[in-house]
Amino acid sequence: MAPVTVAVFYNVLDALIFKSFLESYSVTCFLADDTFLSIHPMASQAIGGVKLNVHPDDFEKASALFQSFKEGKNEELLAEIPHCPECSSDSVLPLPPEPGIYYNEFRCFDCDHEWNDRNLHDLNPGHIE
Ligand SMILES: [Zn+2]
Repeated sequence: MAPVTVAVFYNVLDALIFKSFLESYSVTCFLADDTFLSIHPMASQAIGGVKLNVHPDDFEKASALFQSFKEGKNEELLAEIPHCPECSSDSVLPLPPEPGIYYNEFRCFDCDHEWNDRNLHDLNPGHIE
């Protein structure tokens, strides 16, 4: 099946930012004409910009994510804060991310319990804390 274009960008950096955003939602995608336009940025209008393409099965999900990306709702979508597994409180603080740590850590304000969601992520088996 031929890939479909979800979004067109006039500069390569914007396209790369959205590509990373989509990949954070496990949508496989690739850019077209990005190499040419990184060398000849002034040709963007002439060749119709950088195209971000996905598999046709992912088109709806990617289009919805593009809408929320344009409207700046990405943080809300990304930051789903769970309830405390010990006391079910919803007063939960996401701890600041550390370099090299690819899961989220939380602390409960009510019982001080700390936990992480690393078992929710498909981590590299070689990952060492
Ligand atoms: Zn708690």
